[in-house]
Amino acid sequence: MTKFVFITGGVVSSLGKGVVSASLGQLLSSRGIGVSFLKFDPYLNRDAGTMNPYQHGEVFVTEDGAETDLDLGHYERFAGATLGRRNNVTTGQIYGEVLDRERRGCYGGETVQVIPHVVDTIKAAILRAAEDGPDVLFVELGGTIGDIEGMPFIEAIRQFMLDRPKDGSVLLHLALLPGSPAGGEIKTKPAQHSAQKLRECGLHMDFLLCRSERPMSCGVREKLALYSNLRADRVIDVPDVRLIYEIPDRLHRQGLDDMLCRRLGLESADGDREPWRSFVAAAGNGGVPLRIAAVGKYTGMADSYKSLGEALLHAAAAKNAKLRLDWIGAEDLEAGDPAAILAPYSGVIVPGGFGYRGASGKMRAIRWAREGGTPFLGLCYGLQCAVVEFARNVCGEADAVSAEWLDAAPFDAANSWITLLDNQGKATPLGGTLRLGAQPCALEPGSRAAKAYGAEAVSERHRHRYEVNPEKTALLEERGMRITGRHPPSGLVEIIELPGDQWFVATQAHPEFKSRPLAPHPLFLAFVEAALAQGAPRGA
Ligand code: GLN
Repeated sequence: MTKFVFITGGVVSSLGKGVVSASLGQLLSSRGIGVSFLKFDPYLNRDAGTMNPYQHGEVFVTEDGAETDLDLGHYERFAGATLGRRNNVTTGQIYGEVLDRERRGCYGGETVQVIPHVVDTIKAAILRAAEDGPDVLFVELGGTIGDIEGMPFIEAIRQFMLDRPKDGSVLLHLALLPGSPAGGEIKTKPAQHSAQKLRECGLHMDFLLCRSERPMSCGVREKLALYSNLRADRVIDVPDVRLIYEIPDRLHRQGLDDMLCRRLGLESADGDREPWRSFVAAAGNGGVPLRIAAVGKYTGMADSYKSLGEALLHAAAAKNAKLRLDWIGAEDLEAGDPAAILAPYSGVIVPGGFGYRGASGKMRAIRWAREGGTPFLGLCYGLQCAVVEFARNVCGEADAVSAEWLDAAPFDAANSWITLLDNQGKATPLGGTLRLGAQPCALEPGSRAAKAYGAEAVSERHRHRYEVNPEKTALLEERGMRITGRHPPSGLVEIIELPGDQWFVATQAHPEFKSRPLAPHPLFLAFVEAALAQGAPRGA
């Protein structure tokens, strides 16, 4: 019988509820408890697919091709879970379901209302996420207690908990303890108010987690416990940390996983915390300094490329490197001199992206890496830019473009080296849908990619609309680019490499989504290894 752990937040949003939920998942799964997750996002978008990374950070793609909130990335990385479409539910989806049912006459003439119809649909979504029977389902509610748009979810949680036995569910509330503007003691009043707000909604928290800049004093803990109807040991510190992966052990040291298991009637012994701790130690200190440049468009928002930064950190920790990842604005490279900007780096990454803005800066970075032998890793759009750069500067096709750029300038569609394809894999200026989720890739034996993966058949997650134009691949290969990975049913290009000693690999997929702290992704490992072998960067 699945047990349910609900997590709400108070005072302000972006407190790290996702990391806390993921950390609890890590703790319980290390004790041998099967965990899964559900993230409720109370916005009206059907999913995160259309959202600007500046507002919501990265769109995380699951195996089954759902475009989800980046918290699912934390859940997968911390708890080793593999999640899917039903693990991220938005208000838009809930209302969509209710309105579809209304049109089909499923409500038999009743007035369709938030209570019971919307709330019942939310409750059904919780049960759907638990269908595979995890021992524990973590259900995190986005936003802050008191938000108008969160209210139907809060009511659904209240009713859902009421329907369960006492040890069937628990509620954790994460609140902010701000410092006094005048300095000195941290302030508890906002957290008290959010506890009060929860009570007004008919919910009683079982644990209060407090996010603060520094650990709280005994006095603060006792005061919060008193105002929240809790024992003092159920008020837990979540101080700021240098590395989010430290959080599981911070919670463990306060006995939270033990108390949670006891409260839910789950029998389990302490798990082996050693592998996680050694990863944290390696990720924190690491030996050899390694500077990597990532050239992107959304560099002003740290979370826009969340999984990429994490994947690189996992690989660097495994290779005992002290990683410094710098984000370089693609537009800065358009104006500036790539050699001057990129010289301090031992490796260059061009990640996923959309649209023409910044494309020529990315291509300048790729050219610099290609011509100077600096290790290069291209991810999705990074592969597409690498193909166009090669077409222009090696194949002599100065007008080569991606069909994605045709609206942006008077480009000629006939020069599309990256194009939209119809269902048969033929180039067409029309149609084309986003290719999403896990797709197979057959690797050429002996290639760099096959060596890195240690396999010849792999699967990676995709999120793109455009493909390398199959009519251009012969010319690419003739001029020395190697196509070492293809999508087996269609023959579409999945991976490109350059021959010779240089580590220059780009993939049409997003391998970063599958990297885990204790199982770094093979392509990132190989890239980091190559960058370390590079020694001192050019010009250093
Ligand atoms: N914009 C490109 C496409 O749609 C690449 C997308 C990406 O990098 N995720 O094909």
